[in-house]
Amino acid sequence: MTEQEAIINYMTRNELMSFAPTAALIDMDGTLYDSMGHHADAWHRMMSEIGIDCDRDEFFMYEGRTGVDTINLLFRRAYGHDASPEEAKELYRRKTVLFSEMPPVAPMKGAGRMVKSLLDRHIATVLVTGSGQNTLISRLDTDFPGAFPSGMRVTGHDVTKGKPHPEPFLKGMSLAGVHPENAIAIDNAPIGVMAAAASGAFTIGVKTGPIPEQALWDAGADIVYPSMDALADNIDKFINPFNMSI
Ligand code: CA
Repeated sequence: MTEQEAIINYMTRNELMSFAPTAALIDMDGTLYDSMGHHADAWHRMMSEIGIDCDRDEFFMYEGRTGVDTINLLFRRAYGHDASPEEAKELYRRKTVLFSEMPPVAPMKGAGRMVKSLLDRHIATVLVTGSGQNTLISRLDTDFPGAFPSGMRVTGHDVTKGKPHPEPFLKGMSLAGVHPENAIAIDNAPIGVMAAAASGAFTIGVKTGPIPEQALWDAGADIVYPSMDALADNIDKFINPFNMSI
C-alpha cells in the first residue's frame, strides 16, 4: 500500500475532507529506543526470581502494557488472581532495577532522523509510553533535543487505563491540543497500534523487533514500515505534502 492509498483509506473511513496532521504521538520503547530486548530480559529475570514460569520472548507480545498490567497477566495465569497493589508496585520496582543494571540501550536507528523531520516541519511531538521507567525517560532531552518537553509526555503514571485502551493517545492529543484527525501515531507493538487506532489517529506501525509486520496490520495500523529508517525516509509524505483533499 502506498502512503497516498493509506491516507485516502483513512480519510474515507473517517469521512474527512482533508488530511493535515499537526501533532505526532510517539511511543518510546521499541520505537524511539532499541530497548525491547533488555525489557524482555528484565521481565524474565524478575518473574523467574519469584518462581513464575514464563518465556523470555513472550514479553515482546505484552509490549506497550503498563508494568502492573503485565504483572497481573502473569499472576492470573500462575495463581488465578491479580497481584496486590503493593506486590505489583514492588515487583515493578524490582524489574526497573534489573533493567537499569543492563548495558545502556541506544536510540532506535532512524528515530532521530524521523523526529527531526517532524520538528523541522513544526509538527508537535508528544511522547506516549506505557513505561514509568526514568532510565530512558530521563535521556529523552539528550537523545531527542527539543522534541519531548516535560509537558508533552504521557507515561504509565499519567493514565488510568494503559494501551491497548486509547486513553494514552487521547491524553497525548489533549496535551498537543489536537483532534484525532490531526494526529499521527507511531508505535512498534500490536498493543500500541490497537490503542492508537482506537484513538482515531492516523496510525503508523513500525516493525523494529521479532513481531511480524502482519501483526501490526491486524492490530489496525493504517500503514506499516519494515524499519524505523524506512519510516524516516517517508515521514514527509504525511506532513501535508500537497494539501491532500478528496
Ligand atoms: Ca513500544
